[in-house]
Amino acid sequence: MAQEDIFKKLVAHCKEYGFVFQSSEIYDGLGAVYDYGQNGVELKNNIKKYWWDSMVLLHENVVGIDSAIFMHPTIWKASGHVDAFNDPLIDNKDSKKRYRADVLIEEQLAKIEDKINKEVEKAAKRFGDAFDEKQFRETNARVLENQQKWDALHNRFAKALNDGNLEELRQIIVDEEIACPVSGTRNWTEVRQFNLMFATEMGSTADGALKVYLRPETAQGIFVNYLNVQKTGRMKIPFGIAQIGKAFRNEIVARQFIFRMREFEQMEMQFFVKPGTELEWFEQWKETRMKWHQALGFGSENYRFHVHEKLAHYANAAVDVEFKFPFGFKEVEGIHSRTNFDLSQHQEYSGKKIQYFDPELGESYVPYVVETSIGVDRMFLQVVSASYHEEEVISANGEKDTRVVMKLPPVLAPVKLAVLPLVKKDGLPEKAREIIDSLKFDFNCQYDEKDSIGKRYRRMDAIGTPFCVTIDHQTLEDNTVTIRYRDTMEQDRVGIDKLLGIISEEVSFKKMFTNLK
Ligand code: ATP
Repeated sequence: MAQEDIFKKLVAHCKEYGFVFQSSEIYDGLGAVYDYGQNGVELKNNIKKYWWDSMVLLHENVVGIDSAIFMHPTIWKASGHVDAFNDPLIDNKDSKKRYRADVLIEEQLAKIEDKINKEVEKAAKRFGDAFDEKQFRETNARVLENQQKWDALHNRFAKALNDGNLEELRQIIVDEEIACPVSGTRNWTEVRQFNLMFATEMGSTADGALKVYLRPETAQGIFVNYLNVQKTGRMKIPFGIAQIGKAFRNEIVARQFIFRMREFEQMEMQFFVKPGTELEWFEQWKETRMKWHQALGFGSENYRFHVHEKLAHYANAAVDVEFKFPFGFKEVEGIHSRTNFDLSQHQEYSGKKIQYFDPELGESYVPYVVETSIGVDRMFLQVVSASYHEEEVISANGEKDTRVVMKLPPVLAPVKLAVLPLVKKDGLPEKAREIIDSLKFDFNCQYDEKDSIGKRYRRMDAIGTPFCVTIDHQTLEDNTVTIRYRDTMEQDRVGIDKLLGIISEEVSFKKMFTNLK
């Protein structure tokens, strides 16, 4: 099945099974804003716990905070967001659709890359074990030609971005003959800059209300609390401050479901270090974060680092962690060496000294910062797209059937255990409730007595429940149940007293964290 179709199915599945709903749906929705349903919120909370604990439990020098969404408006002046938080936009005059010029060019680069990869894949199949990919890439005429095209386009694009040259960005789109996906025409407007911050008003005074912004990133809440945390926590450099919270961006091109939203959530950690050591820490955090992603078991081939074409005004190194979504490799996390830009700016704009006295050096300095910044919603999309599977199975009556199963890492699954009485009588429901009562403080359990056992299993597969247990008449006699494993669909007869051990072992965060070491 084409990747696009799979993605459409995934979006429909997320709605049907209570993971993600369009916001304000009964009013026809609000663009690029989404709500999480009963299963979505559990999965999202588990993702947040996985991140939070991996930061603050596993690193004794990382602590958390929760800062307000509203902040003093001067903060956004100091950070550069008022003047420089812009996207280059271009409109197609026929479809009236608006695009990010940089994204159109990035997609063009990805197309060339795809051509090269297809050529390599074809050759790998043809030559089998004898295939030498490096040699092929260096000698095959078609690959070389496309590689040259890619390099030339990439260099031109990077230069245009770095120079802030909007005319050149437009010229690239024209020269590359990039067409609007909707109208199919190349009738483009000029490229313009657009600020992504949402503004609103706070209070009212004789002189009018104060213009405040909905924060476009959580990072600044960490920077302006640097001194508070360092002093009250008696933190010694190097140390980190982590935060999870909402962020808002007036995204123009809001597509691909929860990949790009106008209200979203970030998990950010700012790590404060001694000047001159930041690039070492940058490398270390790159490795730590990649391990964190890969520990979920979605396959290391589905991740890569992408080095930024253009460094933000504050950064001296930056890389994205990209995941292979159904619509291609895209950013899920950014790791940035932000220098001492933010703290220096806040020092200047606030007039307060923001420094660290280093007892080893016997001097004070403005710390440098390495940031790891990941979107909760993009991470959610990574998890559901990697977990969604359609499988051919043989149903109970011997016919071929398809089951949709979310092979979520058990630790993240919204429901860990479903307890299913075979029939709704003879004391089986009561026995099922008894089991739930004994396990519900350990993990999320769900009771289901409606429909045939087969249908109930399918419902649980669809939301990714790793374990189902069925209560039958034998259970009343010998306290054993049938446990069914989601991925293999295998079934075992086990004592009720064994359930806690079997399930805890699989759904434990501890096990995940041990893997990270
Ligand atoms: P992009 O290039 O995709 O716009 P970005 O580089 O501006 O993203 P950052 O400012 O580095 O993103 O934000 C850090 C993380 O926050 C991103 O890696 C992403 O996971 C998440 N994020 C950013 N913007 C959005 C959004 N509009 N919707 C959902 N998640 C987002």
